[in-house]
Amino acid sequence: MLTAEVVVAGGGVSGLLIASALAPDFSVLVIEQRDSLPRNKYWLTNEKVLVENPQFGACVNRRYGFLDFVAYDGLTATVHGNYCLWDTEKLVGHLERELLRHGAQVLTGHRLYSLSTNRGRVAIRASSQTISGRLLIDCMGFGSPIVGAKDVARISGYYILHGREVGTKGVVRPIALDNVAVHKHPAFFELFPTAQGTAHAAIILPSRDYRRCRSIGDELLFILRQSHYSGGINLDVPSQQRSYSGIVPVGRMRKPALDHILFFGEAGQANPAASATGLTRMLHTYRQVALAVGSCLKRDTLNQGDLLSAIPPYMTRMNRIFQESLFESLLLFNSDDFRRLVEDLKEYPAEVINSLLFADFNFGDLRAWRLAADALFRPHRVLGHHVARAVRRYFSWRR
Ligand SMILES: Cc1cc2nc3c(=O)[nH]c(=O)nc-3n(C[C@H](O)[C@H](O)[C@H](O)COP(=O)(O)OP(=O)(O)OC[C@H]3O[C@@H](n4cnc5c(N)ncnc54)[C@H](O)[C@@H]3O)c2cc1C
Repeated sequence: MLTAEVVVAGGGVSGLLIASALAPDFSVLVIEQRDSLPRNKYWLTNEKVLVENPQFGACVNRRYGFLDFVAYDGLTATVHGNYCLWDTEKLVGHLERELLRHGAQVLTGHRLYSLSTNRGRVAIRASSQTISGRLLIDCMGFGSPIVGAKDVARISGYYILHGREVGTKGVVRPIALDNVAVHKHPAFFELFPTAQGTAHAAIILPSRDYRRCRSIGDELLFILRQSHYSGGINLDVPSQQRSYSGIVPVGRMRKPALDHILFFGEAGQANPAASATGLTRMLHTYRQVALAVGSCLKRDTLNQGDLLSAIPPYMTRMNRIFQESLFESLLLFNSDDFRRLVEDLKEYPAEVINSLLFADFNFGDLRAWRLAADALFRPHRVLGHHVARAVRRYFSWRR
């Protein structure tokens, strides 16, 4: 039997972050079901989290000073800010090296399928191994069998993503969301050019169900091959074979911790609902979470109540309610609704848009009240309407 003080299940970015923060002080074992640590995602974050985490400076591929949001008729809001596109290979490689340097074990090709808690320890079965730990951190993302088994999350919907890395020609602008109207229910195209003449291109479909009812792979190919974007895209570059796919669940944890078990990352709903910029929140909080978990381990207070009172919130309650409310609307939006959002993005100051996007908006300041007042005087405004709705929900039973 293998033993460790902390067992981290899931070798995605959240598992690697929390494991690397705990490894200097505790024995840590990471289990990942794939045969190697996955590199099937890319991340855009704000630059604040890089300032907070200068150790990852070499893991950023490219910075942007703006992002475009485009409606189906071409109306474009260019939002200025400081954004980072991360280099997946470098970030995963850096975290893996840190783990090994501190003596942590990384067991790839091991799938967790059973667990039990007994006498202050948690026993995990992962493929052929039995592992005993004092604390299990569930970082298994969308597929976490523990989140499913324990019924600890209320899921409102999903983002279904399908993408690939493509070659680029000429100057390509970073596109955060473009509602290319290839279907009656809006999906969104995004395109993030890298520093080496490629781009991450993907379709994002907000959906109540995680089963796809349409082929977003075909829609992506249409956009890359036949739309106005095709002039800037080169699909015939043999080395650019990286493809991306994933399902990002959006919801709220009923219980972000159980006795000897903590949920983190996508499994712990660390992501803001409407913007799905989860890595920003994870980079912002993972060291605080590790510190809190570390003191619980040192005091040997690892019951649900102890863990719940120790872990910091990933965002303020008001930001979470705002994000949830906007996500509920995204699920119902038609293309004209999204166009009204683009109009808002054109009108409001960039710092307001960016802090709403990355879930660090200060709802206590004057700008929030101005946005809420817009809901009264300009009821067609999307952002103002959702700020006002978030305020109402904050003070009502429907939190
Ligand atoms: C294509 C794509 C683009 C994205 N772009 C962005 C972006 O720009 N910015 C952003 O912040 N977020 C983005 N996201 C969201 C992204 O998913 C999260 O930010 C983040 O990667 C989630 O990390 P995680 O480690 O919590 O979960 P995951 O990355 O899902 O990792 C979970 C890991 O657990 C493993 N696992 C699952 N079940 C088991 C098991 N039973 N036993 C062992 N291991 C198991 C899985 O194999 C996986 O490696 C994107 C997502 C996708 C799919």
